Amino acid sequence: MNFKELRDNFRTKKISAKEAVKESLAKIKDDKLNIFINHFEKEALGNAEHIDNNFEDFKDKPLSGVPIAHKDIFCTEGLPTTCGSKMLENFIAPYDSTVVKNCLDAGSIMVAKTNMDEFAMGSSNETSYFGAVSNPWNHDLVPGGSSGGAAACVSANLTTISTGTDTGGSIRQPAALCGITGLKPTYGLVSRWGMIAFCSSMDQAGPFSKDAFGCAALLDAMASYDEKDSTCTKRKEINFEKSLSKDFGSLNVGVIKNIEKLGINEDIINAYETSKTVLTGLGHKLIEVDFSELSSGICSYYVIAPAECSSNLSRFDGVKYGYRSDGEKDIVNLYMNTRSDGFGDEVKKRILIGTHVLSAGFYDAYYLQAQKVRRMIKVKFENFFKDVDLIFMPTTLDQAFEKNRKSDDPNKMYKEDLLTIPANLAGLPAISFPNGFKNNLPIGGQLIGKYFGEDLLLNTTHKIQEVTDWHKMTP
Ligand code: GLN
Repeated sequence: MNFKELRDNFRTKKISAKEAVKESLAKIKDDKLNIFINHFEKEALGNAEHIDNNFEDFKDKPLSGVPIAHKDIFCTEGLPTTCGSKMLENFIAPYDSTVVKNCLDAGSIMVAKTNMDEFAMGSSNETSYFGAVSNPWNHDLVPGGSSGGAAACVSANLTTISTGTDTGGSIRQPAALCGITGLKPTYGLVSRWGMIAFCSSMDQAGPFSKDAFGCAALLDAMASYDEKDSTCTKRKEINFEKSLSKDFGSLNVGVIKNIEKLGINEDIINAYETSKTVLTGLGHKLIEVDFSELSSGICSYYVIAPAECSSNLSRFDGVKYGYRSDGEKDIVNLYMNTRSDGFGDEVKKRILIGTHVLSAGFYDAYYLQAQKVRRMIKVKFENFFKDVDLIFMPTTLDQAFEKNRKSDDPNKMYKEDLLTIPANLAGLPAISFPNGFKNNLPIGGQLIGKYFGEDLLLNTTHKIQEVTDWHKMTP
């Protein structure tokens, strides 16, 4: 069952929330892909019973009766929240993040929390303290990252929806590698309160599902104005699920000029070309846009993101919460050994880079330049959007790759994000959806929209999915 079928069955009483949860938990307990860090049988069954007993109150909610898995970056009251790190292995949050609370209020039942790259830093889910996640399509391959567990969970049909976060591509890239749909909303649409910070000016939570329909319903639940997040935007509420059936007419869709020069794998380009014909078949017009400065985005990101991470992660000092190294003779040793033992290599590398680029002698040379590039990319998008309604490009350069393949070469791994990072730098919404297969592995295509244009992104993807079958493929 996909999300819609499951929710329909709950609404028509063909299945109870408790039955749905039991089914999901049975599969979760049998998981061989290391998708989860924790699952919550007692809590989930209790919550499902509450929903079944109050059926009338819940039946029309966007996620009524549907099991959900949350990325382990979202704080959950009274339950562990690890962020994929030894530093938070035993951390119990004293409150629910706004996303978790919104999903609960919307009638979903949290069954588990998903594995992820440590503090959301990675593109392969191999930096998790709890071990790598396997790709459901081929267990020797990575699912992508950092929300690799969340994407694999939906891809393998363990739940029909899950939450992720996307700072530089961590929703769209794993969605592409696992053959599902994932949306990174406009910065400020979804509250970041209770979501452990990596790079606060880009972090944004969003939905995963097999299709745009599931993503729309989950986004309806997730998005809300929240006073507790000062970057959350007050806006006119849009019902994303309802907007799927709207007619937005014929669109101007920007497509990438000279795409063969970007170092994208041939199979991905072939899928891209096929998808262009799907778009024209739906009555849209294609307009070429020049994105030759794409690669400067990645350079800018890998200065700004470490800079913000070095600041954000300074709170993990062994004093306030989380891991504390034992028997230290003074406070300096306590800080030093706690952070040396508690963080993994990728996280420590980013803290070092971030501290360096913010230091007095290097701030102007690196951090300030990176911010200028960021502004340039934002302006570039604004200019594109004078002529086009959406931009279409592949999500990734490659399909899913082998574990350990890129881990020894950081530049290669960082390049994974070439096509996803520009939307984060500009704060724009973007969606990845399955748009082809090769060697029995999925390929993802990406649409980028205007600020708060999630309704158009979801609508366009939904229309594509009405005439294509890639999102229905199952590992
Ligand atoms: N792969 C990118 C990084 O490692 C993006 C991560 C993310 O979006 N959370 O920073």
